[in-house]
Amino acid sequence: MSKIKIMDEILANKIAAGEVVERCASVVKELVENSIDANAKEIKIELKEAGTNLIKVTDNGIGMDKEDAVMAFNRHATSKIQDESDLYNINTLGFRGEALASIASVSNVLLKTSQGNVGTLVNIKGGKVIKVESTDSRKGTVIEVTELFYNTPARLKHLKSLYTELASITDYVNKIALSHPEIRFTLINNGNVILKTDGSSNLLKTISAIYGMDVTRKMLEINGEDDDYIISGFISLPEEHRSNRNHMVTLVNGRVVRNQELNKTINDAYHSYKPDNRYPIVIINIELDPSLVDVNIHPTKMDIKFSKLEELLELVKKIIINKLNKQVLIPTSGLVSQEEFYKIEEEKATYEPVIENNKKTSEVKKEIVKSKYEEIKLDLDHEIKVDLNQKIEPPIERLPILYPIGLIHGTYIVCQNDDGMYLIDQHAAKERVNYEIFKEKLANPVKENIIMLFPMTVELSNDEYIILKENFDLLENMGFEIAEFGINSIVIKAHPTWLTSGFEELQIKKILEAVTIREKNFDLERFNDHLAATLACKASIKANTEISLDEMETLISDLRKCHNPFNCPHGRPTIITFTNYDLEKLFKRSGFESLK
Ligand code: ZN
Ligand code: ZN
Repeated sequence: MSKIKIMDEILANKIAAGEVVERCASVVKELVENSIDANAKEIKIELKEAGTNLIKVTDNGIGMDKEDAVMAFNRHATSKIQDESDLYNINTLGFRGEALASIASVSNVLLKTSQGNVGTLVNIKGGKVIKVESTDSRKGTVIEVTELFYNTPARLKHLKSLYTELASITDYVNKIALSHPEIRFTLINNGNVILKTDGSSNLLKTISAIYGMDVTRKMLEINGEDDDYIISGFISLPEEHRSNRNHMVTLVNGRVVRNQELNKTINDAYHSYKPDNRYPIVIINIELDPSLVDVNIHPTKMDIKFSKLEELLELVKKIIINKLNKQVLIPTSGLVSQEEFYKIEEEKATYEPVIENNKKTSEVKKEIVKSKYEEIKLDLDHEIKVDLNQKIEPPIERLPILYPIGLIHGTYIVCQNDDGMYLIDQHAAKERVNYEIFKEKLANPVKENIIMLFPMTVELSNDEYIILKENFDLLENMGFEIAEFGINSIVIKAHPTWLTSGFEELQIKKILEAVTIREKNFDLERFNDHLAATLACKASIKANTEISLDEMETLISDLRKCHNPFNCPHGRPTIITFTNYDLEKLFKRSGFESLK
């Protein structure tokens, strides 16, 4: 019996409302999703000129018989959706089957398909069947789309530059490969391989195929669940960030979706670990009962609504924060990549041709190098599961023991330990220390304050004055004693105890300023966070300030007590390292010398 059924008319119209085929990437998407539905384990996408000249998708799926092959181009044919309720069921990957008909109506399509016996070739151009004949019996389906939009000049004009078209195809294929690590994907443009995944079901290997080994080594595995959700995936170390959200990939039951709130939560979980306007690389898979989601049924969109969103966001936030709070996050100088490091190790190995247990030392060493490499991967593969019912844990002290040696340009503290050399940005470090103090003080205000010897009067503009007067309670809560003082002026008689001595006046001005630019949708936590960062910056040692070794030691020990000792409140690093390996490499020391 034919697998493809004629769809109900209502459903067909609903779907047809969306413009399915807009760009080269939408053609690729439709064809690839058809291949996945056909249970393909290998999908090869070949393009010429970013798809504008040719889009060819070859799969090793189940293929179609002659009847289905012809029927596939029927506008209302689908083998994927049986009735309207399926549209809401995210378990069904393919939204619609009529895409092939849409594609064939605006291009020249050559379909070759076989279930393992006699194959069928169908050629359709501009929606008209040109030819149907028997062909060879290679199992699977090959579809070639040429002359795309030849009869719809408006669409053709709508196509962006080749670069943009290729970028959006690549972006799509990357994401579909991440959602299907069990399928071997190849993407080729003008003969150049852009992506090749191995179909080994190992998500980390897919990540590596897309981002390379250096990034892959900086990915942390996350796991966790509650009654409704099972979360798994990988998140990048905070030092590995990008300028846009494009590398934050969310899969729901294996399907790539988009959800703004989720992206925001993930980014917020990295707050102060990296600059807020930079975004991590995240591949997060959420498994849940399909009835808990509502997929926007517009076929070109992947927006999704969760019915228990708050709970999901809380869970995701907890998992990421707890993960980050366990890491030692000191970026290396970056002058020596990890790949180079392994190369160095192998080079060293080849210097020693000593025979030992019938094995050349070099071989033994190579094995060690290899096992080191594997170890890292193993680590990532077998992370201990996060206990989900836990709260966000207070982080443990993560800064290694450091011995300060001196100061460069009154700015960078030089430290060392057995693993290498470290540089601490003294302003950033002090800023972090102050920030955490101020944040804590602001979150837990006490009624204590310091009476000012000379009350401070502040003159304001009339609009500032009005806002400030409305927010006296906010200031009094912090510990200020404040009163009106003539026209558009206030007087401050007492201030909180925690202001930095010597910087009181400056900090008071910063606080008043923050209050007068109070936003409409005021959020106290966000206000306090921002204020703490501003005050910390003002109160911290500036560059070009000499401090003593004792002061350096105090700063390092204060930094060590911080929740996040690795970044200033703005997400810049407080500390970087040159490992012994970095140093050896930089000085081109051979294996012999460095080992002794
Ligand atoms: Zn600063
Ligand atoms: Zn900063």
